Amino acid sequence: MTLRTGFYFDPIYLQHDTGSHPENAGRLQFLIESMAKTSLLDELQQGKARKAEVHEIQLIHELNYIRSVEDACAVGQQQYFGSMDCIISGKTYEAALHATGAILDAVNQVADQKLDNAFCAVRPPGHHAENSEAMGFCYFNNVAIAAEFLVKEKGYERVLIFDFDVHHGNGTQHSFEARNDIFYCSIHQDPRICYPGTGYASERGVSDGTGYTLNCPMPPYSDDERYLQVFHNNILPVFQDYAPDFILISAGFDAHRDDPLAQESLTVEGFDGMLEGMKTLAYHYAEGRMVSVLEGGYDYQALSDSIQSHLEILLKDPA
Ligand SMILES: [Zn+2]
Repeated sequence: MTLRTGFYFDPIYLQHDTGSHPENAGRLQFLIESMAKTSLLDELQQGKARKAEVHEIQLIHELNYIRSVEDACAVGQQQYFGSMDCIISGKTYEAALHATGAILDAVNQVADQKLDNAFCAVRPPGHHAENSEAMGFCYFNNVAIAAEFLVKEKGYERVLIFDFDVHHGNGTQHSFEARNDIFYCSIHQDPRICYPGTGYASERGVSDGTGYTLNCPMPPYSDDERYLQVFHNNILPVFQDYAPDFILISAGFDAHRDDPLAQESLTVEGFDGMLEGMKTLAYHYAEGRMVSVLEGGYDYQALSDSIQSHLEILLKDPA
């Protein structure tokens, strides 16, 4: 017996054309081609990446900002948007709406018990996107929008976001740092030497949100053992105290030792160890409800291997 694990992908994601940028269509192209050589896709429930509505993107982003992304994409040619690390093209806006839409559908299906859990293989990624600013290859903050949707539309009261991308999810943290109904935790490479330069351990939330943000910066070259030590000793006990009723994962696989953009030393086993812990947590507190969303990961082979192993763990019946 396997679980009903949703897998969300749409060919529109490949049309967000960034040329030779590290966050390029080849990342997902390679994944899908690799998966086609296995039986994994047969075991997964193929999800429908619907197009998110503008009012849904507005759960996190300013309307003027959303329009500025749309207008810039309407020009039709590849160009920088906002900063030198964000490149858009004619289909970026459509792709971004379908990325957010996939995640909204996934959380809805899991909330309604039509799926047990899900993984969304989307691009562009989201966790650096601020309320009205594109940053770090991100335009709309997919996970933040889904978290707000779960609170506002589905009535959840303790949504937990765990972000293991090697970069700090500044946009997600800033969206919720003053609140206690959405907990944000990130484990990432030391911000003194890694983009975007935020996510110090001293950042624990503000006003009503104090204590509901947790940052675990890691020294470069931290391996599986070091990561799992921090995860089990410093992170999981805090999650257990919070007792989440829905779990979202910002799953970036750029802490892998083969990744070209950062200097951590994880292998697939390290990512798997954290996911196993999250899955147990989900069954203990949230009836298994967990949706995982792709963020970074720039070595094709490492990304593909890590995601396929991630999917196998999601599929496994909890013992
Ligand atoms: Zn990253």
